Amino acid sequence: MNAEIVAVGSEMLTPERVDTNSLFLTAELNNLGIEVVAKYVVGDHLERLAGVVRLALSRSGIVILSGGLGPTEDDLTRDGVAAALDRKLVYHPEIAEALEQRFARLNRKMAEVNKRQAFVIEGADILPNDRGTASGQWIEDSNSIVMLLPGPPHELKAMFERQCVPRLARAAPKQVIRTVELRVAGMGESDLDQLIAPVYKKYQNPATTILAGAGDIQIHFRAQCDSEEQAMAMLAEVASPVELLLGDRVYSRNGDSIEAVVGSLLRQHHATVSVAESCTGGLLGERFTSTSGSSDYFVGGFITYSNGLKTALLAVPPDLIAEHGAVSKLVAEAMAAGARRCTGSTYALSITGVAGPEGGTESKPVGTTFIGLAGPAGVEVVQRQFLGDRARIRAFASQIALDLLRRKLMARVA
Ligand code: ATP
Repeated sequence: MNAEIVAVGSEMLTPERVDTNSLFLTAELNNLGIEVVAKYVVGDHLERLAGVVRLALSRSGIVILSGGLGPTEDDLTRDGVAAALDRKLVYHPEIAEALEQRFARLNRKMAEVNKRQAFVIEGADILPNDRGTASGQWIEDSNSIVMLLPGPPHELKAMFERQCVPRLARAAPKQVIRTVELRVAGMGESDLDQLIAPVYKKYQNPATTILAGAGDIQIHFRAQCDSEEQAMAMLAEVASPVELLLGDRVYSRNGDSIEAVVGSLLRQHHATVSVAESCTGGLLGERFTSTSGSSDYFVGGFITYSNGLKTALLAVPPDLIAEHGAVSKLVAEAMAAGARRCTGSTYALSITGVAGPEGGTESKPVGTTFIGLAGPAGVEVVQRQFLGDRARIRAFASQIALDLLRRKLMARVA
């Protein structure tokens, strides 16, 4: 059984507010083995709202609406769903009474408009709301389940967890959703897709999604079926050949970040690392230290942005900078060697490049980057030409540096 989610509220059609309720609902539904196949944001408009509900019901067995259950004229979810289902709204005096008592407990008199909240769609179960004034509604027939939930996230979460999850577990056919995630470094999105598409295109279930970041790609495989064993077998059928094709470019199979993977390899080898950064301004050090326990292997680093500091702290010869430029293979090499010498770390990574948008030349356009790695066997430098804005170029550079060290550590005999 699939689900669709409708977030109701004109405020979510402005640049100020986003629908986050659907993210929570999607995670909860997936836990129950229910796939979300479409989401909508619709403004406070009766016909549009009814239209979206009709469309969702024509395609999916579960439709969940959030918001628009308040007392004002623009709270139209009850009316919209009633119109879509062709059912009447029935006044429930007991809801109005409970609301009146709630206001009385707060020493307030209930406004007349709040009575609008006592209207319930014919045949619906009322879902009490102990955190707010808007009751939810559960409408179930042989073909479909429709839920009306309040908009405020803390009200919606409590109502969904306590009242809707047990009902769904009973009403929806038992299904499981399982995912496998491969993370890949050092490969472009189109090259990756060209390589693996012939494998994953053969399958609709598991479904494959590719999320590309700067030098970092996540491949998500997602299987929906009757049992855990079946889901895992279906996932292995597509993920294993894909993994084989990608080889050592896959750095994680369990969602671990590259920082965490490099960290555990360093720990495994009883090795340490330091950094010497120019254009990334500390980003690489920040990434190393984003993992808890990184003091086991990360000794520290140098942000040597100026030529003077490259010389003063890392002993990069001024003549070398004058002759080859600060963004050069030899300077990257000297920075990495200098950091390793000064800190006594097993490895040192260096980055020097043109992050842009200014500063590019014909021979060294924006994006030109040199990444050095000094280790017990010497220093190596890779040159890369990254595309994108300043943030993306810096993210790429730090990613490639981490991947360079990862590959070095994987090649090292333990
Ligand atoms: P109330 O009676 O509390 O007004 P309601 O069901 O009418 O309940 P809305 O008025 O639609 O809810 O929304 C109330 C507030 O809840 C919004 O201002 C917004 O901050 C939050 N909200 C509504 N919908 C969402 C959503 N989809 N995601 C995140 N927040 C939401």
